[in-house]
Amino acid sequence: MTKIKLVDLHSQYEPLKEELLAEISNVLEGMQLFLGENTFRLEEEFAAFCQARYAIGVGSGTDALYLAMRACGVVAGDEVITVPNTFFATVEAIVMAGAKPLFVDIDPGTNNMDPALIEAAITPRTRAIVPVHLYGQPADMKPILKIARRHGLRVIEDACQAHGAEYDGRRVGGIGDAAAFSFYCAKNLGAYGEAGMVVTNDRQVATSVQMLRNHGSSERYHHTAYGVNSRMDEIQAAVLRVKLRHLDESNTRRRAWAFEYNRSLAELPEVTLPEELPYTQPVYHLFVINVRQRDELRDWLKDRGIETGIHYPIPLHLQEACADLGLGPGSFPHAEASAEQILSLPMYPELTIDQVSYVCQTIRDFYHQGRRQRSKRKVALTS
Ligand SMILES: *Cc1c(COP(=O)(O)O)cnc(C)c1O
Repeated sequence: MTKIKLVDLHSQYEPLKEELLAEISNVLEGMQLFLGENTFRLEEEFAAFCQARYAIGVGSGTDALYLAMRACGVVAGDEVITVPNTFFATVEAIVMAGAKPLFVDIDPGTNNMDPALIEAAITPRTRAIVPVHLYGQPADMKPILKIARRHGLRVIEDACQAHGAEYDGRRVGGIGDAAAFSFYCAKNLGAYGEAGMVVTNDRQVATSVQMLRNHGSSERYHHTAYGVNSRMDEIQAAVLRVKLRHLDESNTRRRAWAFEYNRSLAELPEVTLPEELPYTQPVYHLFVINVRQRDELRDWLKDRGIETGIHYPIPLHLQEACADLGLGPGSFPHAEASAEQILSLPMYPELTIDQVSYVCQTIRDFYHQGRRQRSKRKVALTS
């Protein structure tokens, strides 16, 4: 049977295989495994890609968030504002930095932070805002930055799903005070192990992350702060440099598949398509629709060979780990409603038009047969 995966890493590996294996082999031949040529070159290349001044390679996206927050001055007892509908790492990094997470609800159209709700959440202990560019769609940065400036808060972009996304003509990463990127294997730019990057235009933040990622040390065996061991390794950096050369092209392909999904599903009243803010260019890390009868549709697609996902099924304020925040159901109605309706469709650059058409046709079939059954029931009831 047709089998269409949510993400297919093999289809990206195959055409780049020779080049990737040669670069990995070069690293092993040179035996410089950390803080070498590949990391430094990637840092320059990725900063340029983000149209920002500095990029600092670290161990993961989670560490990038944590280190960016520390470099921006978040300390124990502070509060940091974010959204409840993100990957758990966003809130984990806030807690790792010693701060308390404050959630604000989302705009149901974009599934991103609703800037209109931020000011009510701010207290004298609030230090920073972490907007998440969820699914590769930039959060509405202009009002967020305005509020941050008015209240003296730092803005750290969680850009872990948004490599190359644009907001008002600028790439994400260099818009806030700092940004965190993840190179987890399934992200738009993915390593073959753990890796992440802090991006910033602020020289002090950059210097601080460079020191913190390496045990708080900029000179060997001299430690100016308690840092962490979170250096990007040279094998991952070599892999990422190869893949970065293809990132613009693969983001363009993702946008083309999103366009095709939008065109082909537009007629269905049961399906709400992702809203693009007019001044943004999302990069569709995920293509997420809001639908009626989500779980039935998901089973229907699975039975017909189509893998889907739910990102994410439980809002963070309802996670067991966050119980001490004392936020029950009903605290963030839009985020909670969205968790019940979202469905991630197959999305990766190497999809084919036949695969995308098949996914759309199978979704249409589901709602058409549902309507036929309902009208049959109506006939049965009235006769
Ligand atoms: C992937 C991801 C992270 C964490 O990145 P890792 O590299 O897996 O540590 C953080 N935030 C968001 C929104 C993510 O998607």
